[in-house]
Amino acid sequence: MTLMIHDTLRGKKVKFRPRKKGEVRIYVCGPTVYDLAHIGNARPVVVFDVFTRLLRRLYPKVTYVRNITDVDDKINAAAKETGESIQAITERTTKIFHDDMAALGNLPPDEEPKATEHIDGMKDLVAKLIESGHAYEGTGEAEGHVLFSVPSMGDDYGKLSKLKRDELVAGARVEAAPYKQDPADFILWKPSPIEDDLPGWDSPWGRGRPGWHLECSVMSEKFLGPEFDIHGGGQDLIFPHHENEIAQSTCTGGGKDGGFAKYWMHNGYLMAEGEKMSKSLGNFYTVHELLDEFPGEAIRLALLKTHYRQPLDFTKDGLAEAKRELDGFYGALRKVTDVRALPSEPSPASKVGLLDDLNTPLAISHLHRCLKLLNEANDEGSKVAAKTNLLSSAELLGLLGQDPEAWFKGEASEGGLDAAAIDALIAERGRARENKDFKRGDEIRDELEKNGVLLEDGAQGTTWKRK
Ligand SMILES: [Zn+2]
Repeated sequence: MTLMIHDTLRGKKVKFRPRKKGEVRIYVCGPTVYDLAHIGNARPVVVFDVFTRLLRRLYPKVTYVRNITDVDDKINAAAKETGESIQAITERTTKIFHDDMAALGNLPPDEEPKATEHIDGMKDLVAKLIESGHAYEGTGEAEGHVLFSVPSMGDDYGKLSKLKRDELVAGARVEAAPYKQDPADFILWKPSPIEDDLPGWDSPWGRGRPGWHLECSVMSEKFLGPEFDIHGGGQDLIFPHHENEIAQSTCTGGGKDGGFAKYWMHNGYLMAEGEKMSKSLGNFYTVHELLDEFPGEAIRLALLKTHYRQPLDFTKDGLAEAKRELDGFYGALRKVTDVRALPSEPSPASKVGLLDDLNTPLAISHLHRCLKLLNEANDEGSKVAAKTNLLSSAELLGLLGQDPEAWFKGEASEGGLDAAAIDALIAERGRARENKDFKRGDEIRDELEKNGVLLEDGAQGTTWKRK
């Protein structure tokens, strides 16, 4: 089977061919750990989680690296504002990021390097770039700065973003400085004088800290080699971040054309409730807060219902709809808990959508076809086949991995009834009904409903779910 992916570098959908037979190496830019992850930050994590699940089915060896940016001016600013130490902020935020992403059903990457643990490698790369004439040290007012010389790359700079010279310059102006030899040049290293109380490391250019782009060039090479297969991230990273990563990595001998990442994949933007997310509009959703209201799996499904390259409008209504869809899946699975699904590879049909540039909406529609077959199955053999097909296809998307009972029972909301209390009330209701005390039975049903618990009486007894 052929895997097709949209490659940002070539600007079209191409057939994926790994550099080494049977082995795929992929690097995705991870979070800057200064604040809780918002739902836009979760999108690339979920997208590339599904993608690496697929790759693992197709290739014997997959190495997935996603970094943690734990040195950044946003972190420094957060520390200054709150008084919390930088280390406390980065450790706390990293822990919550891990918990939140696990709650969305994401598997951890194979390697998760932290920028601060690779400063020596960054200093080496800066030295190499200076030596080869691709970077220069600032003088006078700019002392302690090292800048990448964009004109030293010739026409190769800008080939990922396809921006023209004036657009590149306009984009680079964010960090405009009078000491740049060329307005498109960007910072590799900047000073951290001890009196500023900022993180800093001794270097040949004085005590300083790295520019943001440097770490991904260094850590991708360390874990994947100078030439690897796929580099991914959000579309907003194409310029300047990824363009600058290419500049740093290909100028130092990685081979100008063949070096660094062979393919580039980028997920589209995310809006919330039809607008750009912003704290002032009240549509700024952190994953942490959403998880108080919705199951992680519903958030995951809501993110996957839009193709990864398309802009995604994330809404609470859409999230409620995703939860109802999962209720439908788990409801069907709950009826066949005694049917044993066979250990199985996902059917070719379930892979078809994902092989075509990770078409998750198509893969999800396949799940709905499997659900229909499961609901229609009326003998043991077809039930086994339908359940097997549904679960193995869903696993590829990281969905439907929970016990159906656990899905419906969920977590008690604060002050609500926990599962043991609900089970006890249901048992009491059963005894009341056996004794023909229907009044007490109805009281208990009403009591449970007031607590958001719905009962379903069936042939095999009473089951319940949270509203
Ligand atoms: Zn990066």
